Amino acid sequence: MPNSPARILADLGFRYDPANIYQQVITQVLDAGHRLNLPRHLQLIMAEPKSEVMVHFPVEMDDGSYKLFKGYRVQHNNILGPYKGGIRYHAGVSLDHVKALSVLMTMKCSLAGLPLGGGKGGVQVNPNDLSEDELMRLTRRFIAALGDNIGPEHDIPAPDVGTNAQVMAWMADTYINFNNATHHGSGAAVVTGKPVAFGGSVGREKATGQGVVYVIEDLLPEMIDKPLADTTYSVVGFGNVGSWTAKLLAAHGSHLAAVMDHTGAIAPNPGSPGNGASGGLDAEALAQHVEATGGVADFPGSKPISEEVFYTTKVDLFVPAALEQMIGIDQARMLNSKVIAAAATAPTTPEGEKVLAARGIKVLPAILCNCGGVVVSYFEWMQNRQSEIWDLERVDAELRKHMRSAAAKVLATRTELDCDMRTAAYAAALKHIAEVYRLRGIFP
Ligand code: NAD
Repeated sequence: MPNSPARILADLGFRYDPANIYQQVITQVLDAGHRLNLPRHLQLIMAEPKSEVMVHFPVEMDDGSYKLFKGYRVQHNNILGPYKGGIRYHAGVSLDHVKALSVLMTMKCSLAGLPLGGGKGGVQVNPNDLSEDELMRLTRRFIAALGDNIGPEHDIPAPDVGTNAQVMAWMADTYINFNNATHHGSGAAVVTGKPVAFGGSVGREKATGQGVVYVIEDLLPEMIDKPLADTTYSVVGFGNVGSWTAKLLAAHGSHLAAVMDHTGAIAPNPGSPGNGASGGLDAEALAQHVEATGGVADFPGSKPISEEVFYTTKVDLFVPAALEQMIGIDQARMLNSKVIAAAATAPTTPEGEKVLAARGIKVLPAILCNCGGVVVSYFEWMQNRQSEIWDLERVDAELRKHMRSAAAKVLATRTELDCDMRTAAYAAALKHIAEVYRLRGIFP
């Protein structure tokens, strides 16, 4: 078949590698395009990013020595607007990894109805190995190395794993100093996820978790035939997304039955003070414990459990909110839940996904569940450009509208194509992109 994903990738010279995360993600996207009968030229355009920037830059360490770091910015597609996507600081960052995440940003921005394209960046570094000063020098030097590859009208980074509001403040300040831009001019709009005191938006910190919970509120009760107050759930990853999802679900009285992160897995110890109102783990107190200690291990009143017990704990909903590809074949076989709300980016491997499908476990797709972060980033960018300051009520109300509209598109496309929800989410995103390409044409 000339338009099959395998044929498109072979024509572009890819050497087939099923373990490669970029090939996994792009194959899923192209498969959705194939079902949509997307024209071949659009399949080709989607199959590769528009540009891939790789930089090497030296940073002085506190002891006076120098280290050379490798950084990436991949700009996948900007037919809808400026590139948008996070910057990750992690030792495992690689070009193909960043490419995969950049495609997902293109899909996510389109599905969420934003006038933004998709990009992603990263530096190969474990930020925990750096002092605060080293982190600042690395950040400033990386932004200097990227030069005019980023800009408020061109490419707008945001935080991701390993970066935070402080890192975004250093990025914006470096860009402003290099470009003689003013804070309240468009300078600060070069990145989102900044501290509220320096051009950030209220509601950005919780936005991704809030978006996940809006999707759960709207779609889950019908899928499991139960109100949220009676719902049990478990979470892997208790950083920004996992902890906010859990804290917001706690407000519904849902029961947090187990949590796992890089420090271990825990479950409630019946009758202990570590339990929330529902008898499950107290999400708010657990988030404070993680803030203070760096992980969920030794949360007072909880009991440690093995990874196997974590995955086999019976729950209605499982929320992966850690890193990519955590749910492989073994985890998918063990999971004892009816529905997965994919809060993390690409949390399942293709093999894991097949096992989940065979077992009838439904997956609310990642580009729908976790698009709340980029939606509120878009609000921050708009506020910066218009010198406006929105209140939380407005941010949440606008976020809810975007999440509802994205979910409606996924459901309608699922019915139209008679496919699973992830394919429907990609297809809905591609449909909008294809329409804009049709209107604009391919230059010249
Ligand atoms: P974070 O760094 O705040 O948290 C990551 C969590 O993953 C931590 O709790 C960490 O302990 C856990 N983790 C790491 N390795 C693990 C392992 N081997 N086993 C179990 N747990 C492990 O990151 P975050 O911002 O919460 O992002 C989580 C996911 O959500 C990522 O896939 C990210 O791309 C995605 N995402 C985040 C946002 C956002 O706004 N923060 C937006 C969209 C998507």
